[in-house]
Amino acid sequence: MEIALYLKEKVRAMLRQGRNDILIEVNKISSEESRRLRENSTDFRRGDIIDRSMPLNAKLSLAEHYCLVIRQYDEALARLERDEYGICEKCYDNIPLGRLKQVPFTKYCLKCQTSIELKEKQLRYIPPIHLPFSFEKEKRRAMI
Ligand SMILES: [Zn+2]
Repeated sequence: MEIALYLKEKVRAMLRQGRNDILIEVNKISSEESRRLRENSTDFRRGDIIDRSMPLNAKLSLAEHYCLVIRQYDEALARLERDEYGICEKCYDNIPLGRLKQVPFTKYCLKCQTSIELKEKQLRYIPPIHLPFSFEKEKRRAMI
């Protein structure tokens, strides 16, 4: 879908704004963290290490999540330059405007996104291991 030039500029500005907002959040996390580490370095006690590392971990995963979102914004900007923005990468249908407004960096329509998430969930699912019947019998025999 080749979108009109003025619309392209509008979308580009919106994506850059969204990317910037996330970047500000990332910087907040890192400056807050380095300040905290500086302040704590003088009265560091051995027993504190676990308590202090927990919120740090939570913040790191949030920062990691933000970095992922920034990458998605970058990819969306690249798609925009290739005139591929707003086209689902799976079924090549146009992504409805409402969805683009909600998730500006999305590369899939809702239908494809849902099916991808479902597949990922299925991949993560590890079925319980059922031992073959004969093996169970062998085990019981061995125990007697
Ligand atoms: Zn699709």
